[in-house]
Amino acid sequence: MPVYEYQCRSCGRRFEALRRMSERTQAPRCPKCGAEETELAFSAPAFLGGSSGGSSGSCGTSTWTGGG
Ligand SMILES: [Zn+2]
Repeated sequence: MPVYEYQCRSCGRRFEALRRMSERTQAPRCPKCGAEETELAFSAPAFLGGSSGGSSGSCGTSTWTGGG
C-alpha cells in the first residue's frame, strides 16, 4: 500500500498515511488537531523500495512439423 502525504488545512500539520490508491482522495483526519479538512500534499505516491529494471523476453519460434 502506498504512503501518501497529507497536509492539514487547519493547523498546517503534515503527516503520512497509508491509503489505497482508490481512496487517496479520502484524506484521513489530522493526527494533531483532528480536523477533517486535510488535503493531499503530493499527488504521486511514495512506494517503499527501489525500482527494478524491466526484463526483456524473446518470443519463441514454433516450428511446424507437417506430417505426411
Ligand atoms: Zn490539524
